[in-house]
Amino acid sequence: ISDEKKELMDLIEALDVELIHLQFTDIIGIPKNVTIMAHQLNKVLESGITFDGSSIDGFVRVEESDMYLRPDITTFTVFPWTSSPKEARMICDVYNMDGTPFEGCPRYILKQAVKESEALGYTMNVGPECEFFLFHTDSNGVPSLEVHDQASYFDLAPMDMGGNARNDISLTLKQMGFKIEASHHEVAPGQHEIDFEYADALKTADNIMTFKMVVRIIAQRHGLHATFMPKPHIGISGSGMHLNISLSNPNGTNAFYDPKDELQMSSTAYHFLGGLLTHAKAFTALTNPTVNSYKRLVPGYEAPILIAWSLSNRSPLIRVPSGRSESTRLELRSPDPSANPYLALAATLKAGLDGIKNKIEPPAQISNNLYEYSDTEIDELNIERLPSNLYEALKEFSQSATMREAIGDHAFKRYKEAAMYEWNEYSKYVSQWELNRYLRKF
Ligand code: GLN
Ligand code: MG
Ligand code: MG
Ligand code: MG
Repeated sequence: ISDEKKELMDLIEALDVELIHLQFTDIIGIPKNVTIMAHQLNKVLESGITFDGSSIDGFVRVEESDMYLRPDITTFTVFPWTSSPKEARMICDVYNMDGTPFEGCPRYILKQAVKESEALGYTMNVGPECEFFLFHTDSNGVPSLEVHDQASYFDLAPMDMGGNARNDISLTLKQMGFKIEASHHEVAPGQHEIDFEYADALKTADNIMTFKMVVRIIAQRHGLHATFMPKPHIGISGSGMHLNISLSNPNGTNAFYDPKDELQMSSTAYHFLGGLLTHAKAFTALTNPTVNSYKRLVPGYEAPILIAWSLSNRSPLIRVPSGRSESTRLELRSPDPSANPYLALAATLKAGLDGIKNKIEPPAQISNNLYEYSDTEIDELNIERLPSNLYEALKEFSQSATMREAIGDHAFKRYKEAAMYEWNEYSKYVSQWELNRYLRKF
C-alpha cells in the first residue's frame, strides 16, 4: 500500500468518515454514485469496484456489461454538511474488466484531449460561470416555477431565501477547496451565478460536477429547488455556463497574450478563436445538449445566436474580455449548464487545437449588437448562425470528423443515439403553444 493511500486512510480515520461516495458521470452528464463503507476502501483502492455498465446511459450493452471504477484519490473531499460520522467522496475513472480504460468514460475522453494539447505544448485553463435558478417547491416537495424574490442583476436582497442559500453554497464550496471569485444575483428573478477560480480542463470539469451537486444539495436544505435547466421561462433570461478559456505555455505564461499585437493577442489566441468559430456548429450538440438548450439561444437575453466574436459586445458567440497579460482569455458564451462538462471541454479544446494546427484565421470582430441586425443584414455580412434546435445541432455534430475524434467512436455513436432519442420524444409532443396558436385558427 502506497504512502498516498496510507495517508488517505489515516485522514479518513481522523476525520471520522464512515461513508465514501464513489462518483462518476454518464455520457449525458448525469452524476452517478455508489457508496462504500470506509472499511472497504482499502480493497476498493487495490482492485476497484465492479458495476453493471449496461445500466448506465450511453455506456455498454448487456452482453459486455461488467465494468469497474477506480477512485482518483486526489479528488477525495469531505462533505462539509454531514456531521459525525462524516461522508466523503472520490471521483472515479471507468475501466473495462481487462484493465484497460473504458473509451466511453467522459473523464477519460477529456484526459485524452488534454494529452493531445500537452503534446502541442499547451495546458488548457477554464474558468466557468455557472448560472442557475432557485425555485420554491410545493407542499409535496415538487419543484415549481415560483421564485422567492423580484431581484435582478447584482441586486442585494437582504431578507431573501435565495440569497441565504447562495451564501451557504459559496461557504460550503470554500470548505471543499473551491476558491470562489464572485457570487451574485443574475438578471432574472430567482437566478444566481457563482464563479469559482479557473483551473486546468480536467479539474474544472470535476469542479463543475461537484458544483452542481453542492448547489442542489444546499438549496434543498434551504427548502428550494436548484435547476441548471437552460431556459425554464419564456421571456426571461436563461442560464448559461460561459467558459473563459486560455492556454498556458509549459513555463506557465499565458499563451494567448502578445503585447506586440494591436489587440495584445497572440497568433495562438487568434487561431484558437478561429478553430472555435469553425467548429462551433459541430460542438453545439455537446455544449447545448437538451431540447430546452435552444430555447435559450434566442435574441435579447445575452445568449448568442450568431457565430461571431467581439471585444466588448455580449451578443456574439465569443467575447474577448478586457483583461490582458496573464488574464488574456476567450469567453465562449454558448455553453449551458446542462452540458456534460467533460465532453463539452474535450470538444471545445479539440476545436481550438484544430484552429492552431491549421492556422485558422478568425474573421474581423463585430462590435455592434448583433440582436439588432435583420436576417438580411446577417446574410449580407456572411455571419453564420448556431444550430437553432437539437436536431440541427446533431446533424452538424454527426458530420464532424473533428467531433468524432474529440470524443472517440464509442461516445460519438452513443451520444448521437441518446440525443436523437431525446429529439424524437420531443417531436411527438404537442405543446401548449401549438394549441394556443392553431386550435381555433384551423
Ligand atoms: N444568462 C445569460 C445567458 O444565458 C448570461 C448573462 C450574463 O452573464 N451576462 O448566457
Ligand atoms: Mg459572469
Ligand atoms: Mg452571468
Ligand atoms: Mg460571462
